Amino acid sequence: MHNNQNLEQTSQILHLALPKMAELAIPVTPENYAIWYDYFAETNLNLKRAIDGLIANDVKFTPEVNLGLYNRFIEEHSPEIIENVQIETQILINSLVNKIEQLGQGTESFSANLSGYGTQLQAKPSSDELNLIALSIAAEVEQVIAKNREMTSSLVSLSDEIANLKSEMDNLSKVAMTDELTSLKNRRAYELFAAEQMTKFTDTQTVCSLLMIDIDHFKLFNDTFGHLIGDKVLAYVALAMKNTVKGDDLVARYGGEEFVVMLPNAKLHDAVNVAEKIRERISLKKLSIGKEKKQSLGHITVSIGVATLQTGDDAETLMARADEQLYKAKNAGRNCVKYA
Ligand code: GH3
Ligand code: MG
Ligand code: MG
Repeated sequence: MHNNQNLEQTSQILHLALPKMAELAIPVTPENYAIWYDYFAETNLNLKRAIDGLIANDVKFTPEVNLGLYNRFIEEHSPEIIENVQIETQILINSLVNKIEQLGQGTESFSANLSGYGTQLQAKPSSDELNLIALSIAAEVEQVIAKNREMTSSLVSLSDEIANLKSEMDNLSKVAMTDELTSLKNRRAYELFAAEQMTKFTDTQTVCSLLMIDIDHFKLFNDTFGHLIGDKVLAYVALAMKNTVKGDDLVARYGGEEFVVMLPNAKLHDAVNVAEKIRERISLKKLSIGKEKKQSLGHITVSIGVATLQTGDDAETLMARADEQLYKAKNAGRNCVKYA
C-alpha cells in the first residue's frame, strides 16, 4: 500500500494542509482533503495554480468552489484519493491515540487496548480493518469521555472528524468497489479480496476456490437482441450467481461478460458443486422480455472453470488455472463446468 517514507511525507502534508484548511474555513472531508493534499504535495500544477489564483483573488472556499475543484482535478483519480484518505485516517487515529495517551486519563486496560491498536495500525491494515480500528477506538473514546468531561472538547472534535471521515470513506470505497451495471463487486474489489485469501492461506492453511464464469456466445446474443438487452442479461446472470452463493462468498464482474466467484473455505469438490448450481440455475430459465407481447430470448448458458488454491500459488496462478479450465469448458461445447 504505502511505505514509511510515504507515510512520513503524508504526515508532513497533513500538518500543512489541516491548518490551511482551518484558516480558510474548509471542512475536512475526504474530498476536500484530497484537494489540499494534492495542493501541498505539488503533484498537480494546474490544481496548484487554480488554488493560488483563488487565494490571490480572495475567493471564499464555499462548498460549491470546493466541489468544483474536486470535480475538475481529483475525481478521475478516485483510487488514489481513497489511498490518501486511508493514510489520513490512519494519521488522525494515531494522533488521537497520542492525545489520549498524553492526557494520561486511561485505565490500565484502556491503554493496553490502545497500544494494541497501535500495533494493528503499523501492520498496514486494509480499509475494512481500518474502519474496525476506528470504530473500536471511537468506542474506547466514548468510555474516556464518560470518565472525564473536561477533556471532551478536543477529543470530541477529533473523534467527530474520524467518524465523518469513516463514513465518507465507506461511501467512496463502496463506489470504487462496485460494478455499476450489475451492482456486483468489481475487479478491484475482487483483487483485494483475493489478496486477503492468499494471506489467510499462508497464515492458517485455509483453502479457497475460484470460479471463472463466462457467458456463452454472448456476442451473438448482443448481435441478435441488441446491447441494451445484453446489459439486462448481464444483470440477470449477476443476480442468479449472487442468489446461489453464501454470504462469505464474493461474486464480482471481472470484465465484460466474465465473472469470478471466490469461495473462502471451499475445497475443489464443494466449489464444483457451487459451479454446477450456478450453471444449472442460469441455463434452466427461459428468458423473455416485454409484458404483453413477450419476446423470447431463449436460454442463456455459461461455461465455468474451477480451481482450488494450492501451496505455491498466488492470486495470478490460481486464476490462470481456473481460466485454463474455462477454456476447456468452452472447447467441450460450453454450458459445462471443468475443474483442475
Ligand atoms: P464464448 O462462448 O466463446 O465466450 O463467446 P462470446 O461471444 O461470449 O465471447 P467473446 O469474448 O467473443 O465476446 C464477448 C462479448 O461480450 C463481446 C461483447 O459483445 C459482449 N459484452 C462485453 N461486455 C458487455 C457489456 O457490458 N454489455 C453487453 N451488452 N455486452 C457486453
Ligand atoms: Mg469472454
Ligand atoms: Mg463469452
